[in-house]
Amino acid sequence: MPDSNPRPDLFDKAPASPFLRAVHATPVRPYYRPLRARDGEAVVDGRKVVMAGCNDYLGLATDPRVTAAAATALQTYGTSCSGARTLNGTLPLHGELEAAVADFLGTEDAAVVTTGFQANLALAALFGPGDAVFSDTANHASLIDGIRLGAAHRLRYRHADPAHLDRLLADADPAAAKAVVTDGMFSMDGALAPLPAVTAAARRHGARTLVDGAHDIGLLGPAGRGAAELLGVHEQVDLFTGTFSKCFGSTGGFLAGPARVITHLRYTARAILFSASMPPPALAAAMSALEISIDEPWRRHRVLDLASRLRTRLTALGYDAGPAPADPAPPGAPPPPGPVIAVRTGDPADCVRLWQHLLDAGVYTNPVGPPAVPEGSSIIRVTLQATHTDTHVDRIAEAFATARRTPRPADPALARPRQ
Ligand code: PMP
Repeated sequence: MPDSNPRPDLFDKAPASPFLRAVHATPVRPYYRPLRARDGEAVVDGRKVVMAGCNDYLGLATDPRVTAAAATALQTYGTSCSGARTLNGTLPLHGELEAAVADFLGTEDAAVVTTGFQANLALAALFGPGDAVFSDTANHASLIDGIRLGAAHRLRYRHADPAHLDRLLADADPAAAKAVVTDGMFSMDGALAPLPAVTAAARRHGARTLVDGAHDIGLLGPAGRGAAELLGVHEQVDLFTGTFSKCFGSTGGFLAGPARVITHLRYTARAILFSASMPPPALAAAMSALEISIDEPWRRHRVLDLASRLRTRLTALGYDAGPAPADPAPPGAPPPPGPVIAVRTGDPADCVRLWQHLLDAGVYTNPVGPPAVPEGSSIIRVTLQATHTDTHVDRIAEAFATARRTPRPADPALARPRQ
């Protein structure tokens, strides 16, 4: 007889998000696609396409100098340290990379961590009972998780809204030690955090400012130190986190700030204490890429220039591609952002249909839905690299243009042309 009251099985799970369920109802399968990327191109299903969906902004992940450094470290030290930094996972390379990061960012010290995600999880060690943490609602998942792992009171301020932040800070318990936590450049739409107003609000209320520079350190600002440097408030930021997986051609993360804080994190952050350290090839690749990024500023200038040109072209085609350089900026708004271009799309099916059209036209992009973007929204995330040629960018624009020329009725992927 069938069991009339079956017990719940925690393995009975389907994709939880309405976005993924809607995508799976279409024939398009955009995720976990095997691909090989190099120099602004990728091979997908045996076909060469323009790679416009990769965070290797400076084009260093396949640079021969970076791969040679990784190969030498691999031969010298092996594949893994097989342990955490504290006990048996520290090579001279870890200390050298930490010194190089601290030197680059002008901080007293830095700690390297196995991934950028773990760098943000490590922040939990700072967030104790009775403390208060103020977080932008669009912060990266790893920052959200780092805050959740801590014991502090959590408050979310509206995305890029320093006035709301200021009100929350003013209302908070004066006895609480406070931190404001934000991405420097938001990962999905490439917008900059209004760091001058955020750091000013934090200072006014005696809070520390913690900035995740995963997407902007190495890329923005006169010396490439990131969004805070670009916006003139590098010195107002109390602690930086970041990753080697975007501008620095590798994998791994870091925290950079005052020596006493970094020492505290080294000895108390569970994401550092209980995880094997950055492996030798990743360390050497990150070190080499960091040096190249400093020696070759043309890379960041090139990718920013290409992105600004592409954003303008997509906007002219009628796509809603975020703030274009030609748009009059509201007073106090941060300058146009970097190499991440978010093309707003309609429902999930429209999003992945446009993605498939672009792929068929020879351009690989990223279709993104919740939770990476707000509920009810979706984007095609386009990213550029310093190693893209002008022809690559023409091909990206042309692929979007052909989608525009062959619209399906009421295709919301195609926004109305701007007035
Ligand atoms: N912070 C931000 C803003 C990110 O976008 C990411 C990665 N997408 C991370 C942290 C995590 O970095 P990693 O990939 O090195 O774990």
